[in-house]
Amino acid sequence: MSEQACSIHSCKARVYAPAGTGSLCKEHFLDFVKWRRRKGPGMFHKYGAMTMEERDALVAEWAKTIRLEELSTPPGAKR
Ligand SMILES: [Zn+2]
Repeated sequence: MSEQACSIHSCKARVYAPAGTGSLCKEHFLDFVKWRRRKGPGMFHKYGAMTMEERDALVAEWAKTIRLEELSTPPGAKR
């Protein structure tokens, strides 16, 4: 478990907290928390009551958004 890395693709930071069945580094975990806050005050509560499968789905949904944010200004990209 000590060698586990952040579950975000291409992120090699050390794991900080679990997210569903995966794990996230501190930076990504804080981002995930921020994203959940943006989804509304009910989301925090809901997440606490979610099953691992539901959390995984949520993490996957969030992961798509961060990859978009990270890739919003890739070098040489044309939109
Ligand atoms: Zn990460």
